[in-house]
Amino acid sequence: KITLFWFRRDLRLEDNTGLFYALQQEKDILPVFIFDSHILDKLEDKEDARVEFILNQLLGIKEKLEQKGSSLLIRHGKPENVYSALVEEFDIQAVYTNRDYEPYAKERDQKIEKLLKSKNIPFLTFKDQMIFEPGEILNGSGEFYKVFTPFSKSWLEKFKQNSIQPLEEANWKNLFQTSALPKVSLEDLGFQKTQIEIPSKLADQEIIRHYDKTRNFPAIDGTSRLGIHLRFGTISIRKLALKAFKLNETFLNELIWREFYMMILAFNPQVIDKAFKPAYDRIPWRNNEQEFEAWCEGKTGYPIVDAGMRELNSTGYMHNRVRMIVASFLTKHLLIDWRWGERYFAKKLLDFELASNNGGWQWAAGTGTDAQPYFRVFNPDSQTEKFDKDLKYIKKWVPEIGTSSYPKPIVDHKFARQRAIDTYKKALE
Ligand code: FAD
Repeated sequence: KITLFWFRRDLRLEDNTGLFYALQQEKDILPVFIFDSHILDKLEDKEDARVEFILNQLLGIKEKLEQKGSSLLIRHGKPENVYSALVEEFDIQAVYTNRDYEPYAKERDQKIEKLLKSKNIPFLTFKDQMIFEPGEILNGSGEFYKVFTPFSKSWLEKFKQNSIQPLEEANWKNLFQTSALPKVSLEDLGFQKTQIEIPSKLADQEIIRHYDKTRNFPAIDGTSRLGIHLRFGTISIRKLALKAFKLNETFLNELIWREFYMMILAFNPQVIDKAFKPAYDRIPWRNNEQEFEAWCEGKTGYPIVDAGMRELNSTGYMHNRVRMIVASFLTKHLLIDWRWGERYFAKKLLDFELASNNGGWQWAAGTGTDAQPYFRVFNPDSQTEKFDKDLKYIKKWVPEIGTSSYPKPIVDHKFARQRAIDTYKKALE
């Protein structure tokens, strides 16, 4: 008999809750990862740095497990089909895994749990990717918070009361002993290598220490670049939050935003394609396709917007300040549906996280929980003046600024601002 530990977005061996408890409570643990074809088939671009990143992490984990006399089972397919095959192939005692709160993940897990139940195999799930999962932080009436500030206060209080600690070393001797299992290559998965560089997971102490002073300036290396590592669990949120608590409250606050948006999505799965505030679904978006293309390509004639989009297109990353500016520009200046921008980001961002991306877009469009009021329209020039005064960031990505090859502004700022306000106002009347 073996027990499976199913890796999903928790790709690390240390401080991994589900894996730790599997090794503590059962014998002969065999870790498994499934490349989910429901997800991979939807990725149009077969050069996807995220798939490459996942595979590299898994191969690293596999090697470490092999040093401990075990291995990692890697499968590719629809999870329900993979599990139907696994229960035939192995005598499975139980399946351990960490909880995932996205709507698709919850549906998938319900299916797998049902399938396993029909074979009398328990499916045990653990909290790992969040400090406090949806439902743990509720307001005085027992409801979920719709506004960030009181949520963050409760979160922080609870964090101080609970002594959150990383787990000790796991009981590795309970791993299933086997010779090395087959490797999988990117080509086997239908993908190709990319040239995109993944930021290191060793967030510099100094970056976190000075985060509150540096985080708003895109020309400075002043944020952690840990997004992709939090997305795929290559770092532990517990370790990071404890470090943040010691070093910088503003940084910790960003980790709370991450949990706030995860909670909002878990309680309101409809936000995936609907405005959090339903009235905002009445906005008659212009959805001009050529303008959308110019925005995607970084050719709007607004240097800060273009710099951001070009950074995204070539690195898979965009600084948070600039994400806010480009999202506001798309939804307000161009009156293009936030869902279009959200989808584009989802394709390109290495740190794409459904909950934060949706939250960020709905915030910028004014349709979300804590959103920017609709009559506040970012002025790209004053944002540049405040956050990239010397045009250092802009010049890096838009070197042709000031030459005749740089496009004229796609729309006049004053005109666009008024058009946005009038359109929102009318739709919300
Ligand atoms: P740091 O500034 O070093 O912050 C550390 C971590 O805190 C981040 O990695 C992230 O996990 C979390 N965090 C920081 N800011 C936020 C925030 N506003 N909301 C939620 N979590 C936050 N973040 C994503 O992780 N994935 C996304 O797909 C995503 N899409 C966004 C879309 C828009 C339109 C906007 C305005 C913001 C979006 N964000 C998203 C939030 C934020 O921009 C990124 O988390 C941040 O820029 C990532 O860089 P970093 O890792 O250096 O973050």
